[in-house]
Amino acid sequence: MLRRKHGLIVVMVVVAETVWVVVRVQLRDTDFRILSSSELFFVMKKFHLSIVVTNQCNLRCSYCYEQSKTAKRIRIDKAKSIVAQYLNSPEYDEVEIDFFGGEPFLEFQTIKEVCEWVWSQDWKNKYIFFATSNGTLIHGEISEWLREHKDRFWVSLSLDGTKESHDKNRCSSFDRIDLDFFRECWPRQTVKMTISKETAPELYRDITYIHSLGFPITGTNFAEGLDWKDENLVQTVFKQLELLAEFYIKNPQYEVVPLLNMAIYKCEAKERNKWCGCGETMAAFDTDGKIYPCTFFTPMTFSKEQLKALEGINYSDAELFIDNECFDNCYLSPVCNCCYGANYLTTGKINSRDRSKCELIKIRAVFSAAIKAQRIIEKPDDTYENALTIRAISRINELYNH
Ligand code: SF4
Ligand code: SF4
Ligand code: SF4
Repeated sequence: MLRRKHGLIVVMVVVAETVWVVVRVQLRDTDFRILSSSELFFVMKKFHLSIVVTNQCNLRCSYCYEQSKTAKRIRIDKAKSIVAQYLNSPEYDEVEIDFFGGEPFLEFQTIKEVCEWVWSQDWKNKYIFFATSNGTLIHGEISEWLREHKDRFWVSLSLDGTKESHDKNRCSSFDRIDLDFFRECWPRQTVKMTISKETAPELYRDITYIHSLGFPITGTNFAEGLDWKDENLVQTVFKQLELLAEFYIKNPQYEVVPLLNMAIYKCEAKERNKWCGCGETMAAFDTDGKIYPCTFFTPMTFSKEQLKALEGINYSDAELFIDNECFDNCYLSPVCNCCYGANYLTTGKINSRDRSKCELIKIRAVFSAAIKAQRIIEKPDDTYENALTIRAISRINELYNH
């Protein structure tokens, strides 16, 4: 994959392994198993409930996979009854209620009425409200209401980086987002960014820009449905991630973006788990009140026929979601992002991964390993996760850094 063995990574791996050997002779072995994220979700009995309040959006981002933007919107009584069902459910302790679209704030009055109705009474389960928004409508009455309720209503912002990058695919909407408002209300505001062919050459600049705003980046996705195999594009992403890895190594105070923060220890503790809780610990209700496994598997993305073909699937059966070719042959399969909705969109099967991103995954793993090595050198705690991480760093170096 790499044109030459990458010196930065070799040095980090050698030093991390040496530090680790010293730690292991000083401290005793630990023997416990790390719970997977879905197991943690079950232990906490937490449910992620998405309510699609509208199928409509005021933007037309070039990479949007929601192709069916109809004028449908949810009725307020329907939204209230769905929320009530989960807030009183004996099966859960905590519910995250996410208003989704399209652009959810097109239906601000529905959101407001549902939230104020919920806040006016007691419920069995704890809860928090969220919305995933493009930010462009959050002004005036909406921002005043959000400011008043900022401790119990969070907005996750979609932001692709600097104005220049953001405007390339998101309808020149950068200037319509009041970033100061987001910084004031939620200083730890989470940001989701989508990387496209047009913005990949400025990935380093875009991510460091979002860091400079003080926002943690919780989502970094390569746009779906594009061919990411192009050699020039792969080399472009490589150079950008190399710069970013050096940035994180020199600046350990920054929270590493998910793109370079792969949980590589999982490659050593290889388990046949599902990647996410779709259809199990999460559900999405469309505007007509019909339930779907998550927001990806809704009529905004798939046709009736495509959704019908998925009826009857047991979402608790992890085996149905595993790409066996990847599991058997690829060391990185436990950390290779797997969105079953994206699989279905690109390959027609929920368990069949899009191979066009393989090279990107390998580059991400190599630089994630270098950053993990640096973190272990700085803080060589004797944890089971670190023990597995050290093994994974060496293995990734052997397999992909050549
Ligand atoms: S803001 Fe979101 S829903 Fe609207 S077009 Fe862009 S990606 Fe699609
Ligand atoms: S990197 Fe490619 S081969 Fe490996 S798990 Fe991901 S999709 Fe499969
Ligand atoms: S299928 Fe994709 S969109 Fe749905 S919950 Fe899983 S990762 Fe998220």
